Order: sequence, then structure tokens, then C-alpha cells
Amino acid sequence: MLSLKNYKQQTTNSKLSYLRRPMAKYSHDHIVPFKNSELEKKQQVADMFDRIAFRYDFMNRFMSGGIDIRWRKKAIKELKEINPQNILDVATGTADVAIMMAKYLQPKKIIGIDISEGMLNIGRKKISELSLNNIIELQSGDSEAIHFPDNTFDAITVSFGVRNFANLEKGLGEMLRVLKPSGKLVVLEFSKPKQFLFKKIYSLYMKTAAARIGKWIAKNREAYQYLNESVNAFPEGENFLAILNKVGYKNFYSKKLSLGICSIYCGQK
Ligand code: SAM
Repeated sequence: MLSLKNYKQQTTNSKLSYLRRPMAKYSHDHIVPFKNSELEKKQQVADMFDRIAFRYDFMNRFMSGGIDIRWRKKAIKELKEINPQNILDVATGTADVAIMMAKYLQPKKIIGIDISEGMLNIGRKKISELSLNNIIELQSGDSEAIHFPDNTFDAITVSFGVRNFANLEKGLGEMLRVLKPSGKLVVLEFSKPKQFLFKKIYSLYMKTAAARIGKWIAKNREAYQYLNESVNAFPEGENFLAILNKVGYKNFYSKKLSLGICSIYCGQK
């Protein structure tokens, strides 16, 4: 007969077995910013964000009309009830979410990791100007090989990051590994609106205007073309929840924001 201890061990083993299985690849894993480049997706993504870092925050506010700030606050609110003290912000970019979490959640420590030094440097400057260096630390780091031991963080956030991963399952698996038992993951990501008329207008805006505005302001058309393509290919809604389940998260759920332009996904270890 299977003892409770053995049963628990077996369950843990099967939950961690995703780390040993070959990871599934999704169509969006293959969407790259520069189609003629021979570099791997991760390197291309890092280069692209290095190039647009100087205008990244401005472009976010401009293209979303400032709604992105509300979306970020809503995502952070999902962590309020667990009162996390030790948080990892994956794909932290220019640290907007890390800075907001310092204000609204007042944890002891927030570590932000990203593969783009250009984005991190802008984030570091903002953190210094706000005198938050004692709470937030930005480090160069890859979501698919997180440089922290198992069971380190009470909570993990990723805003507008998972869509850029070269291997989504691997990134989600790594985050599960470094979360403490019962720790919570909050993902904020673009999705596609479903309401017929709004869907048409949004799709037209993303197809035509976004790349032009990107070229005009951030001097990079590819980055905003890539934004449209990667949002279209991303496994959103129920599909994303199914991946969280497959990787080993429990108690997962999602919330749609602004008629479905954006979604919050949460899961627990
Ligand atoms: N989280 C920030 C925000 O909410 O504004 C930045 C989001 S930006 C759209 C995506 C970020 O993901 C970029 O800074 C990029 O360098 C980072 N990124 C992409 N792949 C990554 C990976 N494998 N590991 C860590 N960061 C990654």
C-alpha cells in the first residue's frame, strides 16, 4: 500500500517531472523580431529591447493612452492578500512593475531580472531617482535558467514578458521551481478582444498604426510589427491556463481587462 509519505513524494516527483521532460514548443516561440537575422530568438529579443529601451516607457504610455498603468496595478492587486515579502519580477524591463510593487505591497525585497541590459539600465536609473535601491535590485538574468535556488520567492510577477520567451514552458517551469510552496505567480499579458466590432478596430490599429508609430517614435518598425505578430500567435485565455496546469501550477485563474486587450493569469505552487 502507498503510504501518505510516499504518495506525497510521488506527487512532488510527478509535479517536478516537467523539468526532465522535453518542453513543448508553441507557435509563438518561433516568432522573432528580425526575420532575416540568423541569431536565436532570445538574442534577437534582447537586441530589440536594447534598441528601443530609450523610448520604451514613453511608447507604453503613448500607445495605450496610459491604461497600462491601470493594468499593472490590477495585476499587483492579485498579490495583496498573500502579503509577499520576497518577490521576483521576471522580464522586469525598465522596472515599472517592480517600482509599483515597492509602493503598493511594501515587501522586504524585490529582484528584477531581464536579458536586456539596455532596459535594466533605464530601470536602475529610475530606482535610484526614487531612492528605492534598498528594496529593488535589478540583475541580468534569463527566465529560462533562473539563477536562484528552488523555493526562494513568495511571489513572481511577469508583465508583458512571457510572450517574448523563446520557450514558454521552460520559463514557466523555472518560475515554478524558484517559487516557495504556496507561492503565487501573476502574469500580465496582451490578449485579443473578442467583441466583433472592437476586435476589428483593434486588429486594424495593431496591423497598420502600431508599426508606423513604432517607426516614428522608437525608430524601430520591426519591434512593433513583432508586437502584433507575437500577440496574434500567443496561446491566450484557456490555452494559457492549460499550459500552467501542464507545467504544475494549481489554483490557476484568469481575468480579462479592457474588453480583453489584456489578461491577468495567476497560478500557485
Ligand atoms: N515587464 C516590463 C514591463 O511591464 O514594461 C517589460 C516588458 S517588455 C515588453 C519585455 C521584456 O522581456 C524585455 O525587457 C525583454 O528583454 C524581456 N525578456 C524577454 N525574454 C526574456 C527572458 N528569456 N528572460 C528574461 N527577460 C526576458
